[in-house]
Amino acid sequence: MKTPPSAALPDNCGLETTSESLARVRECLAAAQDVLVISGAGVSAESKIPTFRDADGLWQDFDPEEHATREAFLRDPVKVWKWYDARRINLAQARPNPAHRALAAMAVSDRRVFIVTQNVDDLHEQAGSREVVHIHGLLWRLRCERDGPALENREAPLSEMPPLCMCGEVMRLDIVWFGENLPRQPVERIRPYFWEGRIDLCLVIGTEASFGYIWQWAVHAREQGALLVDVNPRDRGLGSMADVRLRGKAGELIPRLI
Ligand code: NAD
Repeated sequence: MKTPPSAALPDNCGLETTSESLARVRECLAAAQDVLVISGAGVSAESKIPTFRDADGLWQDFDPEEHATREAFLRDPVKVWKWYDARRINLAQARPNPAHRALAAMAVSDRRVFIVTQNVDDLHEQAGSREVVHIHGLLWRLRCERDGPALENREAPLSEMPPLCMCGEVMRLDIVWFGENLPRQPVERIRPYFWEGRIDLCLVIGTEASFGYIWQWAVHAREQGALLVDVNPRDRGLGSMADVRLRGKAGELIPRLI
């Protein structure tokens, strides 16, 4: 994962969501048996979890190099852990918003909804979505780089700062920091999904799509015949690569699709 924050952009880039564009997506969804959702931080913004690169995003006040790299963690684990502890405390109070709930409701008996999320929160699962792949890990999992597999830990705030493994090593979060590769397990869940069949609809929601693999998955879905839809209040994300661009907040637009 590589990337730096982009400069804040104005909210209104002149694109509007029309009733025609909404109707087109609604119609596609009504007939769809296989829906791929690629979600980013924007889908949780209305649950009061800050995004990264928006004007009120986390990177406005915090340097990613100092907080979200393995080097920063090795240099000063307590500083990095304090930042994540605050994010975990915020997440412990967060609840799914109408976008999470509408995505969960889309998965009816004859329709599969497969969610690939960049988010390290578990709000899709809390809303009831069953097939969720976290490609950047989860804030609720810790692991020791020396000593073993990831463990669930929902203590917020942490009682021990920094948290230690039984072997004495400082535990890290089981998330993907800048400069690290995607973990094998989630990627292995995504690959067969693409082989299995034809995706009818691909919703890319609340993301800058700044990582190459997000583009690749979206392009792949489109090549399989999916209608590619980008949902974002600003003219960001997939841009003109999308068949339909819905301009607005996920919590307002996604419930209108079902
Ligand atoms: P990002 O911050 O770069 O971009 C967020 C995008 O969401 C922007 O394009 C913004 O215009 C859009 N957005 C803002 N409010 C929205 C709303 N209400 N509805 C729809 N869209 C909205 O985030 P990203 O593209 O997801 O970048 C990926 C990184 O963000 C990942 O590494 C991920 O781990 C991390 N992240 C996750 C969380 C979380 O777990 N909730 C929070 C912050 C960052």
